[in-house]
Amino acid sequence: MEYFAPPLASLIEEFSKLPGIGRKTAQRLAFYVLNMNVNDVNELANAIVNAKKNIKYCSICSNLTDTDPCFICGNTKRDQTTICVVEDPRDVIAIEKTKEFLGLYHVLHGSISPMEGIGPEDIKIKELLQRIRELDVAEVILATNPTIEGEATAMYISKLLKPLGIKTTRIAHGIPVGGDLEYADEVTLSKALEGRREI
Ligand SMILES: [Zn+2]
Repeated sequence: MEYFAPPLASLIEEFSKLPGIGRKTAQRLAFYVLNMNVNDVNELANAIVNAKKNIKYCSICSNLTDTDPCFICGNTKRDQTTICVVEDPRDVIAIEKTKEFLGLYHVLHGSISPMEGIGPEDIKIKELLQRIRELDVAEVILATNPTIEGEATAMYISKLLKPLGIKTTRIAHGIPVGGDLEYADEVTLSKALEGRREI
């Protein structure tokens, strides 16, 4: 690093903190930025700052949004009695793309993982229960990833919901075990939603 002028070294350093970016790629990106015109560089920098400043959690579903409530929670045409629980905001986008689901979402922002020291209190389960207590919810679809952590999270939530007498379903077919919802294609994801079973 000492071979680079300090401003360049610090740009490389910042890029290399991003996920999946090694030292070499960080250098490549930094040199690319240096070759960009100044307007494009400003737009890139502004987009980063604006996204960070204006994107927040929806106070109802915890999805990422620039309005509160988010456009899904705020849409009265959607079925208010069905809540689809996902781990990540990107899963909402994946399910929305199927155009099969017209209910509401709840984003947990993670899954229970004792290995990584993530417990139920570290993800948005409390907020889900609060919502269910306050609303007339007919069905909760647990669409967490089919990984060990995703399954454990689904089991945990279903046990909490059982005494409340709410129909709890788990997405079923099509999603490969160990897979990631986000990367499932639309047909597979539609089938998984269709084939959900009560747990
Ligand atoms: Zn929302």
